[in-house]
Amino acid sequence: MLSGELPATGLVERVALGNRLVPHNYSVPVDREMPCDHPGCSATFVVRLIPGQLVYPRWCPFHRPRHRRNLPT
Ligand SMILES: [Zn+2]
Repeated sequence: MLSGELPATGLVERVALGNRLVPHNYSVPVDREMPCDHPGCSATFVVRLIPGQLVYPRWCPFHRPRHRRNLPT
């Protein structure tokens, strides 16, 4: 899908700010290890990919609160 076809681009951008989009075609829930997106953080965490769901956390549990992401690393 082209981004120009999305009616609510602003919403998508806000979602993408705190989450990542993970396209997949699993028909059953699958656990997958993901790296934290915070610069300087090498933590990984397990997310469960749910059939039909594309939006998943972008940061490890420690960096999920915004104030922790603003700390110098
Ligand atoms: Zn992290």
